[in-house]
Amino acid sequence: MSLPIDQDFIWDKSSHYELFVPEKPLAPHSLQVRGNENYGEMFDLLQKAAAQWDDFFIYTSRPSLTEWEFIPYTRESYAWTQQFSVLWSVIRGAAAQSTQQRSATLERYKVSPVATSHKIEGRDAFCDPQVIERQRIFSKGKVEILFNYAPQGDEHFLIVPKAHRTDFRDLQRDEFVEAMESADKIVRHYLSKGLNCYLFHKTGSWAGQTVPHWHLHIVVVDPSKDFAAKLGVGWRMLFGARPLPPDILKGRVEMLQVELTEFR
Ligand SMILES: [Zn+2]
Repeated sequence: MSLPIDQDFIWDKSSHYELFVPEKPLAPHSLQVRGNENYGEMFDLLQKAAAQWDDFFIYTSRPSLTEWEFIPYTRESYAWTQQFSVLWSVIRGAAAQSTQQRSATLERYKVSPVATSHKIEGRDAFCDPQVIERQRIFSKGKVEILFNYAPQGDEHFLIVPKAHRTDFRDLQRDEFVEAMESADKIVRHYLSKGLNCYLFHKTGSWAGQTVPHWHLHIVVVDPSKDFAAKLGVGWRMLFGARPLPPDILKGRVEMLQVELTEFR
């Protein structure tokens, strides 16, 4: 269960959410956001954290999508060592940090925003209608719900805005809210079947963002093989997964279109 939030380490808050330095972060400088219902408010708080960094990873494995960890990557050390250390914390559990370390993180966030905008033109895979057509499970408002052509877990969904948005800082509030609403339905569906879901999105090459068009990952994993499965998912997140042959991909997409038909 979640630890109570220590009021001394709250960086910012809104009526339904708090953004704070956690006792057990997945990486140095991590923040957690926690609240209820209003995804728009959560978006606003996460954007404030995002304005401070060029590269970051936003992650949750909780059943409720109102609780996430914001994990920035610094360019002071290698990207892959930071990514590996975060994965290790996810798999083995994060260690507690001292009050001094938490205070230092809080101070770090009090400085003015430093992130640089690096919008990229929309000529990526998620701007290609043929890619969308091949991988689409369903479409909802301003977002597409796709199946990943190279799944990292038992199932692997990607939620992408229909309009080109380079990364999280470029994403619009209503697109984020729609993405969360569809993600919530998918997560509940798999939780009711006894499966776990890992959700994340990446901004910046240092955080491992490969397609410059924002996308939310939902990786579904069977918890009965949890440690090995998590390690396997982690490995594929870092080093990539093998693409499915076209006929297998087509079959999986068609099967999921039927399984998730009520979400359309
Ligand atoms: Zn695009």
